[in-house]
Amino acid sequence: MRLSRFHLATVKEVPADAEIASHRLMLRTGMIRKLAAGIYTWSPLGLRVLSKVQAVVREEMNRAGAIELLMPSIQPKELWEETGRWEKFGGQLLKIRDRKEAGYCYGPTHEEVVTDFARNELKSYKQLPVNFYQIQTKFRDEIRPRFGVMRAREFLMKDAYSFHLDSDCLEREYRNMYDAYGRIFTRLGLRFRAVQADTGAIGGNASHEFQVLADSGEDAIAFSSESEYAANVEMAEALAPAATRPAPSQALERVATPTQKTIEDVSAFLGVKPEQCVKTMLVRGVDGLVALCVRGDHEINEVKAAKLAELPGASVLADEAEIVRVTGTRPGFIGPAGLPDSIPVIVDRSAAALADFVCGGNQDGSHFRGANWERDARVTRVADLRKVVEGDASPDGHGTLRIARGIEVGHVFQLGSQYAQAMGATVLDDGGKAQVMQMGCYGIGVSRIVAAAIEQNHDDNGIVWPEPMAPWRVAICPIGAQQNAQVREEAERLYAELNAAGIETLLDDRGLRPGPMFADMELIGIPHRVVVSERGLSAGTFEYRRRNESENHALDREELLRRLS
Ligand code: ATP
Ligand code: MG
Repeated sequence: MRLSRFHLATVKEVPADAEIASHRLMLRTGMIRKLAAGIYTWSPLGLRVLSKVQAVVREEMNRAGAIELLMPSIQPKELWEETGRWEKFGGQLLKIRDRKEAGYCYGPTHEEVVTDFARNELKSYKQLPVNFYQIQTKFRDEIRPRFGVMRAREFLMKDAYSFHLDSDCLEREYRNMYDAYGRIFTRLGLRFRAVQADTGAIGGNASHEFQVLADSGEDAIAFSSESEYAANVEMAEALAPAATRPAPSQALERVATPTQKTIEDVSAFLGVKPEQCVKTMLVRGVDGLVALCVRGDHEINEVKAAKLAELPGASVLADEAEIVRVTGTRPGFIGPAGLPDSIPVIVDRSAAALADFVCGGNQDGSHFRGANWERDARVTRVADLRKVVEGDASPDGHGTLRIARGIEVGHVFQLGSQYAQAMGATVLDDGGKAQVMQMGCYGIGVSRIVAAAIEQNHDDNGIVWPEPMAPWRVAICPIGAQQNAQVREEAERLYAELNAAGIETLLDDRGLRPGPMFADMELIGIPHRVVVSERGLSAGTFEYRRRNESENHALDREELLRRLS
């Protein structure tokens, strides 16, 4: 590509809301331009990278035996009503109406559409297993679109759906996809980790996320210091402490804490450690309020809490008015000792191992000291309620947990039969009997991968593309080409040779001075740069430099071509 014929529009300034490196660099290079909140145009430069990612994903999906189709992005309401997700999917679902007032949504995912396709197309077990995939635009009306294409509202996803007669076959395909995902992210040059995951709104049994490791990641992942164990913190089990609970040694005592409401304030005021306090949260239960108790130094894990039978499938804090009405006490002074009997008290495993603890006094301006379970505070049930923290025992019994941040770029699920059951997707088995199909689903955030790769691969001067994602592999930078015909000719000759060798090359023929020209090439992250100059040519060499190294090498034509091919 001749740069004079391309549209490159790098900029110096980016909006202040571009908080993370990938967002800033995608704007500075001009890869993306914002049209509306969470909605972006991919410029010609950005699209070159996005297409590279797509190509790798497509190749590996095909290699793994999946077959490509393309489903519509607009989906009829009736299909979503069959699975109950028209209501259940919530605010992320963008609902629209046509001129006849019929309801549709812009697809956030395609389980309904593909299951409809499968129930019409697949009649016999002989057509199974089969794995259909597409690469297509999705829309999710995210509450907080941010970080550019990392968490956009409109984004590009590869989604695949497999169909099986039985769960053994599903498990084999799940493993096959898991391995294919490993190959995709490895080929793209990403540092990643597969972790056990929650199944969320998609549902199902087993699930793994593929997380690109980056400090700016929105997800926290827990992994063992000694074993292969790795899980999203949402999922990671917090084991019960090894030691049994000591017997009470203190009497229950009410102490005045007039303005101390938080654990930090209360523990500092009373001179006890946060881990000797119990923190109580009142949430909306299926039937009135429910109390969730964790140790003062721990945090409630909302994903775990949402799964409690006492909760309606979501963990929503009760509001102050409701708390005051039911308990007569303001939030900040609530504790498990002396709560009204109507409120179930669900206690985290670590909190349940405490004796002589501090907790809210259920009276404004007071806490209890020397509280003990059973004796002073009811325990309806002990459960795993908290987020794991660094140093916790690994749930597989080997080593301790460390926590890292990650960006979710892929997600595989064993859905089982829930969608096929709801939508009546059956095939005849070899005995001629109708069987509900088993399903798996497998997503990759194609556009998010571009941002994730930049998070892992950049420096002060710009992007440092992993080779397979780079918009071009080589940039030729002629210096003083206007004044020097030989420089011009040699640059053209090299450009023709590299193209002929099938090496994607960018010829910077804009006639810029070296400073701004090099700055642009570094910013857009081209892995290899060749400078053609009068000085070099008189010595019979080109100046070669890798984007991720700081030295220049003077190479003759033969050596240069050898290195680049
Ligand atoms: P997240 O937890 O990040 O919202 P998710 O669990 O909702 O993701 P899936 O439904 O599993 O995502 O979608 C498959 C993939 O699509 C994700 O692994 C992610 O890479 C990508 N993805 C999901 N939401 C977005 C978004 N808002 N912007 C860009 N990519 C997204
Ligand atoms: Mg999501």
